Amino acid sequence: MENNSETFELLEAQRMVRDYVCSTCWDGLYYAPGPERRYYVRCVTCRHDTVGFVTKHYANNCRLKSRGEAAEVKEMLKEAGVINNPHKGKTIEEINKELGF
Ligand SMILES: [Zn+2]
Repeated sequence: MENNSETFELLEAQRMVRDYVCSTCWDGLYYAPGPERRYYVRCVTCRHDTVGFVTKHYANNCRLKSRGEAAEVKEMLKEAGVINNPHKGKTIEEINKELGF
């Protein structure tokens, strides 16, 4: 299915490739000749399924943000004992005994 048949002037296409990345996977873009001496701009990975574009600046910001959030979640899980669970390998009885039951 052709989701993105929008075409651009050559200069526009070149600028898109330089400044934008795929909005789905953040991979780089390329341009390919389309009808009427205009150009398609597509993701190198999604190709014909390219849904849209975001600026590289935006993508970098999102990447940094999600990396920060991932670190935070890891800390939270560690605190909650999900990672490096100190009770790992203990039976319910042993844990209950430790807790004073
Ligand atoms: Zn893509």
